[in-house]
Amino acid sequence: MSIAYVALGSNLDGPARHVRDAFSALDALPGTRLRRHSSLYSSQPLGPPGQPDYVNAVAELETSLEPQALLDGMQAIEQAHGRIHSLERWGPRPLDLDLLLFDDREIQDARLIVPHPEIGRRNFVLGPLIEVAPDARIPGMGSARDLLRQLGTAGLERLPDHGIEAA
Ligand code: ATP
Ligand code: CA
Ligand code: CA
Repeated sequence: MSIAYVALGSNLDGPARHVRDAFSALDALPGTRLRRHSSLYSSQPLGPPGQPDYVNAVAELETSLEPQALLDGMQAIEQAHGRIHSLERWGPRPLDLDLLLFDDREIQDARLIVPHPEIGRRNFVLGPLIEVAPDARIPGMGSARDLLRQLGTAGLERLPDHGIEAA
């Protein structure tokens, strides 16, 4: 069994619902169990201006899948949530699932890079990651907590629990 961390993000069509539904969908992947998930956070979007804020979270999974098979499952979930690929980079999307960490492995192939290359630059990923895994280490980059301390938490807000229902 491996431990994987997945970043969830949505900024369209009731984003909190997409994120909550995706927790269940990840739990339902073959050989995979959702061990825990972070709170939901709101963050300001990267990319083209004028997009709605994002809702972000991180899920901790236990899985018997290989990383590429997990990515296949994640992409199937994105598609079930109406994700249309090849829109503009970082444009609005109903659901984005990024594989952050897979045990302590480092992977670089044509369709999968782990740790996710932007992990050390994104407070909306590191914040929820630290909530579920306070001592997480990023292979090649060090402690997630130190990385977040350097970045700061500007633009990142933890949503209150009732926000999970309302947003
Ligand atoms: P970013 O990766 O900077 O957050 P994005 O999430 O908007 O950008 P996508 O359009 O969702 O990018 O994904 C583009 C491709 O990235 C996917 O088709 C996938 O093959 C590849 N990819 C590489 N590494 C990963 C990873 N760790 N998790 C998810 N996708 C990955
Ligand atoms: Ca992404
Ligand atoms: Ca992605």
